[in-house]
Amino acid sequence: MHGLMMDQPLLISSLLRHAERHHGDQQIVSRRVEGDIHRYTFRDMAARSRRLANVLRALDVAPRTVVATLAWNGYRHMELYYAVSGSGSVLHTLNPRLHPDQLAWIVGHAQDQILFFDLSFLPLVEQIAAQLPSVRAFVLMTDRGHMPARSGIANLQCYEELVEAAADRFEWPLFDENTASSLCYTSGTTGDPKGVLYSHRSTLLHTFGVALPDSLGLRAQETVLPVVPMFHVNAWGQPYAACMVGAKIVFPGPQLDGKSLYELFETERVTLSSGVPTVWQGLLAYVEQHGLRFSTMKRTVIGGAACPPGMLRAFVQRHGVAVIHGWGMTETSPFGTAAVLKGSQLVLGEEERFSVQAKQGRCVFGIDMKIIDDSGVELPWDGRSSGHLMVRGPWVIERYFKAPPQQQALVDGWFPTGDVATIDRDGFMQITDRSKDVIKSGGEWIGSIDLENIAMSHPAVAMAACIGVPHPKWDERPLLVVQTRPGAAVGRDELIAFYAGKVAKWWIPDDVVFVAEIPLGATGKMLKTELRKRFSDHRLPDAEGR
Ligand code: AMP
Repeated sequence: MHGLMMDQPLLISSLLRHAERHHGDQQIVSRRVEGDIHRYTFRDMAARSRRLANVLRALDVAPRTVVATLAWNGYRHMELYYAVSGSGSVLHTLNPRLHPDQLAWIVGHAQDQILFFDLSFLPLVEQIAAQLPSVRAFVLMTDRGHMPARSGIANLQCYEELVEAAADRFEWPLFDENTASSLCYTSGTTGDPKGVLYSHRSTLLHTFGVALPDSLGLRAQETVLPVVPMFHVNAWGQPYAACMVGAKIVFPGPQLDGKSLYELFETERVTLSSGVPTVWQGLLAYVEQHGLRFSTMKRTVIGGAACPPGMLRAFVQRHGVAVIHGWGMTETSPFGTAAVLKGSQLVLGEEERFSVQAKQGRCVFGIDMKIIDDSGVELPWDGRSSGHLMVRGPWVIERYFKAPPQQQALVDGWFPTGDVATIDRDGFMQITDRSKDVIKSGGEWIGSIDLENIAMSHPAVAMAACIGVPHPKWDERPLLVVQTRPGAAVGRDELIAFYAGKVAKWWIPDDVVFVAEIPLGATGKMLKTELRKRFSDHRLPDAEGR
């Protein structure tokens, strides 16, 4: 017997409709790429999103086609979030930090048809436009006054002109909630980047999960400033969650340095923010250097990389700002766990609380997890047994974009995260290692395989392994371990210079060490776990990073 309740699909457009009807006066404030502060309301945003949906129609964007953005966190990007997905197309948020060739590859793989981009990316788009045959139209997200007099891009259009000329009326279509809504690529594992294709249903359910009290605890009274980029897993769902609860949203644009963020926190009375540890390091350093206080900031969400215990203490003890340490992945939309204390843990002393909060946390409803050993046997939740972390849930990936149906990303219905973790009796997961072969620097991936292949194309290199070693600012930086060919010689600086122009600058290894022999496992694979152990204390030369 079926239940007798309304069968309404869970669609992204419903978030916008709700925000407009019930929180129409709530503000969206953006530091613009053009340099000034822009301020309007959810009502304005909804009206402009409808116009933008008409623009997409005029540009012949059929449902299910892919529309790309190359943009910072800002109101125009938010309008695109709603107009593209809401009208049934797929929003593909491109990561501008990737190497231009990799970006071009991703646009081609996704078959992006329209590219909307911020003014700061004009030189980048001019550089790669000829490599983007699938893109029919390029739209610069600015007004007429900021359009370039001349550009190498044919068919370059002006966002504001298109929006202003479009009609305001648009009926958000109803369709199956399992329809694809947005697309993000991750370079989390070996080989080419992989696309994760979210659906309206997965996005809506994830949004409920994100907003819950023991998750971000978002409410209409909050002012939220997502530092985490809208091109990195949809800013952890905050552009959706803000509409769901009616929270004021503040977008920082491209200025993510400590001073700019602090000023915005104070002038806009931000109560909640979110970002990777590297960003918070910059903010804390600025605040402490100038003897400043946060006058409205109550909580900050730290994720994407492990929150250093010192950062947790600094926020809580010195600034009275609570920390929510969270874990997630592009493949999990991303929200998975948060280290928020349970009632039974409130009796713990401060030090014990800190040790719980430094863990990656417990599952939000909707996500389930387990840890298994190498042969697939589930391990106990004793806080000591360490195993491969597996997750499942309605906002977890089943298969990568364009992978054949038989190529599921799952093992027995669970997604292998590539993280290695313990889980304690209270269900708090703690990451102890990574089984996937990647380096994460400042919250963004560096492809170790690509770096090794380049090194191995040097005539003096017999074998090269690239590993992440701890770095105080960037969390991890790449270290290249090299075994030279017999009789051949190459220096550190020569090898580092060898990367110029081949990868993004911030991917280039910070240092090179030469070893007599790179250790190999039984199957002939390089034993990176051993190298990581051996070089965990390696002192990198003072790297500028990126
Ligand atoms: P991404 O897909 O770029 O969001 O990266 C996901 C990966 O980042 C995870 O599989 C972890 O390896 C890492 N990660 C995310 N959050 C944390 C965290 N709180 N602590 C440690 N590693 C994390």
